[in-house]
Amino acid sequence: EAAAKAAALNVDAGAPTIFDKIVKREIPATVVYENVKVLAFRDINPQAPVHVVLIPKERDGLTQLSKASERNKDVLGELLFAAKVVAEQEGLVEGFRVVINDGPQGCQSVYHLHLHLLGGRQLKWPPG
Ligand code: ADP
Repeated sequence: EAAAKAAALNVDAGAPTIFDKIVKREIPATVVYENVKVLAFRDINPQAPVHVVLIPKERDGLTQLSKASERNKDVLGELLFAAKVVAEQEGLVEGFRVVINDGPQGCQSVYHLHLHLLGGRQLKWPPG
């Protein structure tokens, strides 16, 4: 666990992530939504009946939210709006949750900024 934490704090912002490979269609994913800036696909380990991951296609230094710069503001807006569009598309009329995990204490495991869209069941608060 200590090694994982150290690795998480020492992310190589230029190294391709598994999500870059999904963008390049080098590994398969079930894509549910795509536009010029954003790709959304089903999480491989779903935590709810609907669990979609939304990513910027171009990482542009955005390994995690805490590394965002002014130039990333537009894509951050694109991601949040895309989450709303996918929620609608998935029929989440009774509500849903959008989550960004940041860093070791946020339990982030893939260092390519992403939003989790969760829904389709009664979610609890607070999360663990
Ligand atoms: P955590 O793994 O703790 O949820 P993150 O917030 O970094 O941390 O989330 C990464 C998410 O990406 C996880 O929910 C994981 O199941 C998902 N994931 C990892 N690899 C793939 C993949 N190849 N296809 C779809 N989802 C993936």
